[in-house]
Amino acid sequence: MFWKKKMHECGEIIIKCPYGHGEMRKIIKEDIIIDVCDTCKGMWLDDKEIDKLVALAARQASLAKQKTTQKGGTHRKKTGKKL
Ligand SMILES: [Zn+2]
Repeated sequence: MFWKKKMHECGEIIIKCPYGHGEMRKIIKEDIIIDVCDTCKGMWLDDKEIDKLVALAARQASLAKQKTTQKGGTHRKKTGKKL
């Protein structure tokens, strides 16, 4: 299954909370695995995961932008002007 595959890809690493609250819970969002501590609500991300998260946020932001600009409907054609 999808979840199992994702677990395998990340090497099934169980991260323990740095504050000593025990094992962190894995949350899978899109393609990103986030480890969360239920006690202190701390989060752990890999460097790869933060890149994905940033990319995802950028994608969602651009999608939201597209939605809002579609309402205004300003279409401008780029014409090849000679200087
Ligand atoms: Zn904790």
